[in-house]
Amino acid sequence: RPDGPLSALPAAELTAFHRAQEAAYAELRAAGLKLDLTRGKPAAAQLDLSDGLLTLPRGTTDSGGTDVRNYGGLEGLRDLRAIFAELLGTPVEQLVAGDNSSLVMMRSVLSYLWLHGGVTSERPWSAEEKVTFVCPVPGYDRHFTLLDWFGIDTVTVPMNDDGPDAEAIAELVAHDPTIKGMWLVPTYANPTGTITSPAVAERLASMPTAAPDFTIFWDNAYALHHLTEEETASADILGLAEAAGNPHRPIVFASTSKITYAGAGVGFLAASTDVVKWYTTHLGKGAIGPDKVNHLRHAQFFGSADGVRAHMVKHRELIAPKFDAVDRILTERLGGLGVAEWKVPVGGYFFSLDVLDGTAARVVQLAREAGIALTPAGASFPKGLDPRDRNIRLAPTFPPPEEVARAMEGVTTCVLLAAAEKLLDANG
Ligand code: PMP
Repeated sequence: RPDGPLSALPAAELTAFHRAQEAAYAELRAAGLKLDLTRGKPAAAQLDLSDGLLTLPRGTTDSGGTDVRNYGGLEGLRDLRAIFAELLGTPVEQLVAGDNSSLVMMRSVLSYLWLHGGVTSERPWSAEEKVTFVCPVPGYDRHFTLLDWFGIDTVTVPMNDDGPDAEAIAELVAHDPTIKGMWLVPTYANPTGTITSPAVAERLASMPTAAPDFTIFWDNAYALHHLTEEETASADILGLAEAAGNPHRPIVFASTSKITYAGAGVGFLAASTDVVKWYTTHLGKGAIGPDKVNHLRHAQFFGSADGVRAHMVKHRELIAPKFDAVDRILTERLGGLGVAEWKVPVGGYFFSLDVLDGTAARVVQLAREAGIALTPAGASFPKGLDPRDRNIRLAPTFPPPEEVARAMEGVTTCVLLAAAEKLLDANG
């Protein structure tokens, strides 16, 4: 193993290094692995933590006497909303509990904006000549797919260590009235793990925007998903926006998909009182009420906000060792070679690995051919296009720990081989 950057190796040593990586890769292929680091799914052991749900609810009414079996209550069951309002730092009156997916709520909000406009819109978004969204990158692929589906244009800004580049965003939105919104995963971002600082949140809440109905899609999917004992609270975007005189700008989303069951949890939406009313009015055109039986069993399962916090510690104990293994193997095998950069996430579900420019797609291909499935290179960028072809999203939660380690050993071999190829190529 060279003790400095690969790019500093004399030609003969680089050739020898390349040959050694080819041999290591041949061995990797011969092992016939079948491993998968693609999607951020909870492992079965994590889902088991919530199996108490399967024998709940006790009874059929909540503390207010609502019969949860019947229609009604578009805003969701108050007992559950009270617990999550405390955790998300929003007033309970401004928090809606919905069905099992916050992503569906995001799509609904976009659909309502498209068809009818929002509370501060001059017209439906579909009547605009063009609609553009600001996308911090790397970001969440499904956000970008959703924009594509609407025919919404994108403009990217870098994700910095304290959140998205707020100055770049402020500059864009000040002058371009087609920019109607932005995505942000404010806590433990997918995939970078970035925490948006209160200062950046304040700037986004208060910046002047050319569009009167500029909307921040504050997707707090990982608000409670701490990987260390430090339980960092998210910036209070609703409070900041209200204080800045832009109360209708942010819409907060969250869910229990990675708290209880990914397929049978509860999605949440929070916003100003007017925006919540706008949301439930449009929702009511196609729904008579959410699954309140699920709300009640979730409320009884947790009992309180502290019940959720204690539950998240159990998740942490199951997944933190997997994240530790990823960092340990990356450091042992790639550290100091100048072929990869990553930050150790302190929460969330992902590692964002930057390899040598121009090699991410090659790494993913090599891994695939060796039986290790990785998220396609570029997935964390709009249209799947990473301009530097360097970012790879790693999702270590689903496989058992020993498979995470084996997959990462293989991935590092692919990174080294792709880097050696690239450097040899550059040397002509
Ligand atoms: N937002 C982000 C940032 C996510 O990573 C995910 C899950 N991969 C979701 C939303 C999906 O949330 P839900 O299950 O509530 O639809």
